[in-house]
Order: sequence, then C-alpha cells, then structure tokens
Amino acid sequence: MTESDRKLFIVSNRLPIIIGVEDDQWKVNPSSGGLITALAPLMKKNHGTWLGWPGCGPEAPVEELLEKYSREQEYTLKSVAITDVEVEHYYRGFSNQTIWPLFHDLLGYCSFDAENWNYYNRVNERFAAEVVKLIGPDHFVWIHDYQLILVAHYLRELKANLHLNFFLHIPFPACDLLQRMPWRSEIVYGLLQYDHLGFQTNHDRRNFIQCVKTMIPEASVKGYRQQSEVRLEGRTIKLGTYPISIDFHEFNDFAASKEVADAAWFVHENLPSRKLVLGVDRLDYTKGIPERFLAFERALEKYPDLHRHISLVQIVVPSRTKVPEYRDLKEVLDTLSGRINGRFSRQGWVPIHYMFRELNRTQLLGYYRACEVALITPLRDGMNLVAKEYCASSVENDGILILSEFAGAADQLQKGALMVNPYDLEGTADAIYAAFVMTEEERRRRMRTLRGEIRRNDVQRWIEWFLKSDEGG
Ligand code: UDP
Repeated sequence: MTESDRKLFIVSNRLPIIIGVEDDQWKVNPSSGGLITALAPLMKKNHGTWLGWPGCGPEAPVEELLEKYSREQEYTLKSVAITDVEVEHYYRGFSNQTIWPLFHDLLGYCSFDAENWNYYNRVNERFAAEVVKLIGPDHFVWIHDYQLILVAHYLRELKANLHLNFFLHIPFPACDLLQRMPWRSEIVYGLLQYDHLGFQTNHDRRNFIQCVKTMIPEASVKGYRQQSEVRLEGRTIKLGTYPISIDFHEFNDFAASKEVADAAWFVHENLPSRKLVLGVDRLDYTKGIPERFLAFERALEKYPDLHRHISLVQIVVPSRTKVPEYRDLKEVLDTLSGRINGRFSRQGWVPIHYMFRELNRTQLLGYYRACEVALITPLRDGMNLVAKEYCASSVENDGILILSEFAGAADQLQKGALMVNPYDLEGTADAIYAAFVMTEEERRRRMRTLRGEIRRNDVQRWIEWFLKSDEGG
C-alpha cells in the first residue's frame, strides 16, 4: 500500500470546523489551518475519518450537523463530547497551563494540578474509547498533538491491537525541564505506547530520547540522525523528524492575485514613505511579543536614522483569553505599545501600529506582501508557519525574514534569514537595522534561498514523508 492509498483516521483535540449560528440557523464552517488544507484531498480520496471535539456543547445538534457536513466533504467527521468542566481542566488546565508552557521552556507559567491531570487522563481515555468504536481494519490511525498524548496508553488498556502514529506539533522539552512535572514518567511512557512518533525538529527528538534514557531505563535506543528506534517490552517504536510546512503554491499564487496586490497597496498607501516591519502572532506568551516591542524600541534609541522611516505593524490574534496569563499579556502589550508610541511618535509618524484582531486571508496576505521585513521572534515555537507563509507570499522576492533561533522553522530557514536570539534585545535591534540598510541584491539572494527551501519541502511532502516513514511498520 502506498502513502496515497492510506485510509486516514485522524484524531485531534478539535475537529477542523467551527459550529455557529447564522441567520437563526446552525451552520458548520471549515476552520482555517494548514493541516486540514493539506489532508483534505487525501481524506476525500479515501473517505477518511476525523475524530475530535466539535468545540461546542450539547446545545447544538452536533451529530446531525456533522452527518450533513460529512456527506458534502466526502469524508467522515465524528465528535467526542467534552463537558464544560472537562474543558476547564483537561484543555485550559492540563493542556494549556501545564504541557504548553513546560514544553515551550517557560516553567514560570506552569501549574501542576492533580485534578487537571485526572481530567486529562479521563478525556484521553474517552478519545481512546471512541477510536475503538469507529476504527476499521484498513485505517491508518494518526493522532495529533499535546492534548492527546495518552490516547495510545488507553488504547493499549482496551487491548486494541492497532498500529498507532502520533505527531507532536509543539517542541519537546529538555530532560531536566520535563523532570519538574510530577507525571513525567507517565508522559514519556505514554508516548512510547505509540508505534511511530513524529517531531518537528531533531532537537525535539533528541530531547525525547534523552528523557527515555533517563526515565525508562529498561528501554534501549538505536540511531541518532533523522530516524531512531526505541525497543521496549518487545515492541519497536520509530521516532522521526518531520518539520511541518505550508502549501507553498497556495500562498504564492494567492499573493500574486489582484485582490492581494490591492490589499497590499492599501496598507502602504496608509503608511507612506517608510519601511514596514511585520509581526503576526496569536496572543501567546511563547511568541515573544513584549521582547519584540522592546527590541524595536532599542533600535529606535540606537539608530535615529530609523525615525520616521520605519514602523512596526504588529497583528495579535485573540486567543485563550479566558486564561489569566493571556489576559495579563494583552495588558502588557497595550501598555508597552502606548509607552513606546508616546515616547517616539512625531507628526505623521507612529512607530508601532498594533492591532488586536483576526484578519481574513486577503488582509493577511496583503500585509505579507506590503511589509518589507517580517520580525518573527518567538521565545520558543514548534515550527512557526507565519515565517514560511511570509516567504511564500514574497512574490517580488525581496522581503527580509528576521527569525528567532528558537523557532522550529529556524532549522530550515537559517540560511536565508537574519537569525536572532529573542532574549537579546541589542542583537535583535541590530538585526532590525541590518534589514533596514540591506542591499536589494542581498535581499533577493536571501529570499530566493528561503522560497526554494519552502517550495521543495511543502506540507504535501510532510504528509508523504510521515506516511512513507511508517511503511513496513
Ligand atoms: N493566521 C490567521 N489569521 C490571522 C493571523 C494568522 O489565520 O489573522 C494564521 C496564519 O496564517 C498561520 C497561523 O495562523 O497559519 C499561525 O500559525 P503559527 O504556526 O505561526 O503559530 P500558532 O498560532 O500555530 O502557534
């Protein structure tokens, strides 16, 4: 069976849809996201199944809506019900206040709460029970991300004899960090219940191997380059590195359209005679947005010739606003941008244009095309797709990418990007200035390298690579 023949059974925390009410009627709309765009053709071709939480409570006629939507999409969506209390503890609690900060190296944001852990187990167990109900012999089971680490463990408890694949979209932390978590061995042992584990970078995979060696001494590990294997209790677990990507041509082609060209023109028309530096992030403390504002301020202090000739356009997409740390971050950003603008603004020039809202595709690509520089400085990031999308949308081939060395994307993009340590405000300020004065020749040379890399290793390749690596498993 080749990778394109696989009948996919995808499991993720959220289904790739948004259920809502429009004109007094329940409606299902597809959510945006690289994973669904990339998987949809394969899901349709082989009539796959996607299992996940629909993101709404029992007030919506979920089953009926999913049945209709599944018929239209030619693949099946199945829901796992999660109550409000479970959302609080499993999702907001353990997933987003324990695993998320710990796996992004931000121990100070972690809470270790036994009740949250119990709910995390309970919901993972429910996902496993739903898989067992729906699974067929020809399915290729592919479970996604940090909310569902223990599904394989519960499937083994149910004696389900399945070959299980898992991809971790976020980083995997160093061993001495993971050791802070009271349930560290359960997490590592739980991951070893899969048969094939995918990581974004070699660094993440090596961190995991180190944790296996330290916490599960009876396991043996072989190989250390792109692929490795763990032997445990008579089973072999394959570990691979598969950096996720985007559909290069989709971004490239849409960015070249008149619609986006007009949107880009509009952005620059409103902010004339200056270079635009773009930041686009979900509201998240991992994205390093306050540090970015401070580095931009430092650049303005250090290099007065930037005044009036550069502006930072920062788009922050609202996210997890019910979690207190996220609300606090919003306040920090409001205050910082206000302070910096108060300090440097002059008639006709505001240094930071900060927008707290979600953009539609045309607007987003309009910003990608209009802005001469992308300043992408997460403190830690699994991949960072915005970095890749910016380059794929740079159809004039002359944008500049400034990228954090702690983004997963750094592995592939460091040859063309200006690399920075986001904690180093001086270094980041210098990189902003280097971008400001960079020659056209160098800009084109760097962007050609970046676009070539993203074109060659697009999201389709990512899927094929993951599925192919599992063959024979
Ligand atoms: N994005 C979006 N609307 C916006 C801004 C961004 O849909 O207004 C998308 C963007 O195109 C990208 C994703 O959000 O695909 C962010 O992905 P990334 O890997 O950079 O970060 P994440 O939010 O997954 O941590």
